Amino acid sequence: MFINMDKITIDGLEVFAKHGVFPEENILGQKFVISVIMYTDTRKAGITDELEYSVNYGEVSHFIKDFVQGHTFKLIERVAEELAQAILLKFDLLEKADVKISKPWAPIGLPVNNVSVEISRSWHKAYIALGSNMGDKKGFLDMAVKKLDEHQLCKVIKVADYICTEPYGGVEQDMFINSALELKTLLTPDELLTLLHEIEASADRKREIHWGPRTLDLDILFYDNSIIDTEYLQVPHSDIQNRDFVLIPMAQLAPFLRHPVLNITIKQMLEKLGDR
Ligand code: ATP
Ligand code: CA
Ligand code: CA
Repeated sequence: MFINMDKITIDGLEVFAKHGVFPEENILGQKFVISVIMYTDTRKAGITDELEYSVNYGEVSHFIKDFVQGHTFKLIERVAEELAQAILLKFDLLEKADVKISKPWAPIGLPVNNVSVEISRSWHKAYIALGSNMGDKKGFLDMAVKKLDEHQLCKVIKVADYICTEPYGGVEQDMFINSALELKTLLTPDELLTLLHEIEASADRKREIHWGPRTLDLDILFYDNSIIDTEYLQVPHSDIQNRDFVLIPMAQLAPFLRHPVLNITIKQMLEKLGDR
């Protein structure tokens, strides 16, 4: 997704903190060793020599120390997960972070050098389709955009113009309002789908007739370049290339986005559809 992924590394930061499954660990505390690899584009900082264009590793180190001491978790998995998220939310220029939490004094009753958990977390770019053909249609779309943007782990980057379209799929029903939006998110595809279902439910969406009238329909169109084929989720959405009400808003957001399976751009899909 990102063109230039340079790395800034904080290696082996020692922090005394109280994470652990055993109650005495939460009282006495022990040493944790933290390493973080931060992925960002350092080109501009490299050319201008200005810190404002990069991530201040001193500031991040103090942030890590305060964060790791300011919470008490049972598992180092949780420490790593929460820390990676906090770093990505706090430092805007970061696209991705690898976080390693080591516990050299882990109380396991055996001689061991170290135990550790290492994870990699990053921002993702998703495109969401929005549609409504019941009740306050524009109000439902506005509400969905707002709820997505307000979610702690999501940021709405761009919203396409709302367009009025004919119903699709052969069921006799009212006109639709459709749009699409670009989302920056830390959620996984499954988590994002669950969030979309929650937002649909808050618009009182009922699943009665397939392709029938609905207050709000939110579909994941794309998620990075991922290809997902499970019972509950197909990404890219399986019918993008056949739907002008998806391709028109998408063409406004990302005309040159390439479908990872069909290997053609949004613009090309729209042209093909027009020819039929
Ligand atoms: P269509 O998916 O053809 O536009 P629809 O949106 O009317 O039809 P729904 O009743 O809203 O269909 O969704 C049915 C199920 O589709 C959802 O419960 C979800 O599990 C599944 N699904 C699969 N892939 C996706 C996706 N990319 N985005 C949203 N839902 C998906
Ligand atoms: Ca749909
Ligand atoms: Ca849907």
